[in-house]
Amino acid sequence: MRLLVLPGDGIGPEIVAAATAALGALNRRFRLGLELVHRDVGFASLENVGTTLPAEVMALATEVDGVLLGPVSTEEYPPAEKGGINLSAWFRTHLDLYANIRPSHVRPGVPAHVPAMDLVIVRENTEGFYADRNMAVGSGEFMPTPDVALAIGKLTVAGCRRIAVTAFELARRRRGRLTAVHKANVLRIYSGLFLDQVGQVSRDYPDVRWDTVIVDAMAALLVRVPERFDVVVTTNMFGDILSDEAAELAGGLGLAASLNAGDRHAVAQAAHGSAPDIAGQDRANPAAFMQSVAMLLDHLGAHGNRRDLVDAAACLNAGTDALLADPATRTPDLGGTAGTKAFTEALVGAISAG
Ligand code: NAD
Repeated sequence: MRLLVLPGDGIGPEIVAAATAALGALNRRFRLGLELVHRDVGFASLENVGTTLPAEVMALATEVDGVLLGPVSTEEYPPAEKGGINLSAWFRTHLDLYANIRPSHVRPGVPAHVPAMDLVIVRENTEGFYADRNMAVGSGEFMPTPDVALAIGKLTVAGCRRIAVTAFELARRRRGRLTAVHKANVLRIYSGLFLDQVGQVSRDYPDVRWDTVIVDAMAALLVRVPERFDVVVTTNMFGDILSDEAAELAGGLGLAASLNAGDRHAVAQAAHGSAPDIAGQDRANPAAFMQSVAMLLDHLGAHGNRRDLVDAAACLNAGTDALLADPATRTPDLGGTAGTKAFTEALVGAISAG
């Protein structure tokens, strides 16, 4: 099994190195037969070959079994014509990674803003108000006159259906509860189409109880009664914002794991950004990326009928959670004193000893 490893920018190289060290230990312990293919993207490749995403990496991404993508400093990239390709957008659209799965749960012993939370946000990842990527030709964001800015949101029946199916399937495997988050009180046609498709798909899942919540109320309910939610399905922009809120309530962005998945490809990519404020200081929390990689292994194991990959994913999750529970092995963002490297060494030791 071949995995493409792309460190990215900012804290990317540090947390990706941490995850590949853990993967090495898992590979030895579970005899997974993993082959890691390393390539540069982001500012490293911009300097060397003039683009943040070389054509060779694009080709490799379509051939491998899975991708580990570190955070990328998209906001700081030059325009596309000067080599600044938005990697997140490219991977999601070209590999058709329509489901962005973002779990948030309060871990035993880890300081959190809410006492209880164990939910998964299933965010549609290829449509919605991401206007820079929702047109076949041209951009959905434009200025007809210098004083007018327009951005187009796009939803399709097929796009809403497939994300609804993903969410209902997940709810069935979890606590059998699903909430569809929308803004159909204002965007009657746009959010209305999404809700209509979720409702139609729900008929195939009579065992899943589902309801709807308006997005602004959802922002408040996540703080007030987070334990009420199990699987939350929503459109692209709402899911992006709510998943950061949920991650922060559960402990912080350093715990925000995330998997981008489609029918043929999957990319592990933490929800947080490249954190330039702490890059190169051995202060980055690798837990979010570590558990994104665990999600990738679990996904590949489930789809390829490989119990060893599922077991390795569980081992990586359990090892990470055990270190987070102990203040001595937590990183500074969670009030701990451990550096990225010390966290990684302890995790590799625990995996190897098991
Ligand atoms: P950010 O997520 O990088 O940082 C926000 C805050 O959270 C910072 O204080 C940072 O230090 C902290 N933080 C984030 N991840 C952490 C971790 N693993 N451990 C400890 N602390 C962590 O968001 P930002 O500052 O708005 O964005 C910085 C850059 O990242 C921008 O160029 C943006 O475009 C990009 N970005 C990339 C992704 C991605 O690659 N998936 C996502 C969001 C933002």
